[in-house]
Amino acid sequence: MSETKNSHKSKRPVRTTGPAVLEITSCSSCPFFERRRMFTEDSWEEAYDWFCKKSNGKKIAGYVEWHEAPKIQVPDWCKLKK
Ligand code: SF4
Repeated sequence: MSETKNSHKSKRPVRTTGPAVLEITSCSSCPFFERRRMFTEDSWEEAYDWFCKKSNGKKIAGYVEWHEAPKIQVPDWCKLKK
């Protein structure tokens, strides 16, 4: 049997020293994310403008509906990008 004790764990290297690294794939999961609802004449419509508190409230994207949210990329100007 070739299975090791930790075979169920990720194969990615684990950093044991230095600062913690948070991998963010969407602004919506970032602590600096803020969204504000956009109100229209159609009360069924639900869309938001996305802003970044890390960049003084700079707009990330405008009029984002729920089905578009997964497609919004972290912008190139993000201060957390390496
Ligand atoms: S632009 Fe960067 S810092 Fe701002 S909300 Fe998105 S991931 Fe967070």
